Amino acid sequence: MSVIIVGGGIGGLSLALALFKVGVPCRIYEAAAEIKPLGVGLNLLPHAVTELGKLGLLDQLLALGVETRDVSFFTAHGQLVHREERGRHAGYTAPQISMHRGDLHMTLLQAVIDRLGEDAVHLGHRCVSADQDASSATAHFLTPGNRAVSAKGSVVIGCDGVHSVIRKQMYPDEAGYRFHGTVQYRGVTVSQPFLTGKSMAYVGTPETGKLVVYPIRENVDTEGRQLINWVVEVAKEDCGVRDWNRRAGYDDFIDLMSDWSFDWLDVPAMIRNASSIYEYPVVDQDPLPAWTDGRITLLGDAAHPMLPRGSNGAAQAIIDGNTLAQMLATDSDPLRTLKAYEEKRLPATARIVLTNREQAPDAILGVVEQRTGGRPFAKLEDVISQEEVAQWQDSYKSIAGFSIAQLQK
Ligand SMILES: Cc1cc2nc3c(=O)[nH]c(=O)nc-3n(C[C@H](O)[C@H](O)[C@H](O)COP(=O)(O)OP(=O)(O)OC[C@H]3O[C@@H](n4cnc5c(N)ncnc54)[C@H](O)[C@@H]3O)c2cc1C
Repeated sequence: MSVIIVGGGIGGLSLALALFKVGVPCRIYEAAAEIKPLGVGLNLLPHAVTELGKLGLLDQLLALGVETRDVSFFTAHGQLVHREERGRHAGYTAPQISMHRGDLHMTLLQAVIDRLGEDAVHLGHRCVSADQDASSATAHFLTPGNRAVSAKGSVVIGCDGVHSVIRKQMYPDEAGYRFHGTVQYRGVTVSQPFLTGKSMAYVGTPETGKLVVYPIRENVDTEGRQLINWVVEVAKEDCGVRDWNRRAGYDDFIDLMSDWSFDWLDVPAMIRNASSIYEYPVVDQDPLPAWTDGRITLLGDAAHPMLPRGSNGAAQAIIDGNTLAQMLATDSDPLRTLKAYEEKRLPATARIVLTNREQAPDAILGVVEQRTGGRPFAKLEDVISQEEVAQWQDSYKSIAGFSIAQLQK
């Protein structure tokens, strides 16, 4: 058994580490000529951290990121609707970690180089197609200067992200991505800690302007300030380009939150002090009927691109990788194994894709807004009970596979 991994992002590198752990040889082929610490923040929920812990990376990730203590949900008027503890503070064995995507990516890359050797990672290899015969699968690449090269293995795994070439080859007529009428502006700002200093907060809805904010690096200067990650989601008619690196300014959205100076955070000041802002459309794709074509399959965003709500994009890619590696290690028939992997992971991730559209964790704030007509409430219990909010959160955790009961089975 040998595995050709197309794409050296979060999913591809996690898969490589998981395969190394179970003794299955693999090679990674990445389009970029250099892997750089790109993106802004992401949240690793306890299910993802459990998998990364199995790969021996827990201490490193904890040292780089911030162990999330709690999550709070506020209306656009700054009224608290719900607060809950997270990770080990909520009784999980594994922590929840907020960190820079670049820190996670570079940690995975370094671990791959340390364990598999530098030769395992082939940069500057842009996959253009993959094919197979009765005993092998081959991925075809263009390298700088348009030199064509191929790599042959027992299987080819398409971990090539939201613009996956392997997916396109399997589904040439697939409808384009679905735009959900909002865009996200993402940025990082060096700032003083807010709330507990390890808190994550959601404020408002896409209609009022929505903010998600959490720290991702500790002590970035001598004044003990943190690197704070923030995401603002607003309604917009124009979808724009599906490019994680697209730069933006704050003029398009800052007016919506000009009076969001809460006693725990001055939102306009934080946004104005951002070192960089990126715009990303809120898009996803309908779940596919199948990911596997014989010896070729999909993993991560290539398989199940989902709305960037609920902190499950990276998590599900990591879980895909560990699941597939376990299966490849225990069954020597690649055709049967890739089909079994799809049968296990496709329905699980399809449910998350669909749930993120209407019932992501923060969508509970939309329920509150609907019931109050967007006005401040006098008493929260007249609008929504804590049981209803807790049920909403518990339901998302179960669907996404990170309830305490699921993880401690
Ligand atoms: C530049 C960038 C910035 C991002 N920033 C954020 C962020 O700030 N917050 C967040 O939550 N998520 C971000 N994401 C998305 C996040 O990494 C993924 O949603 C998640 O981790 C799933 O991982 P993945 O491996 O499936 O996809 P990705 O991590 O996107 O990895 C896909 C990899 O495949 C490579 N690739 C693409 N096409 C080909 C090809 N034809 N041949 C070979 N290789 C190819 C890409 O260069 C990339 O390295 C970002 C992704 C990218 C690429």
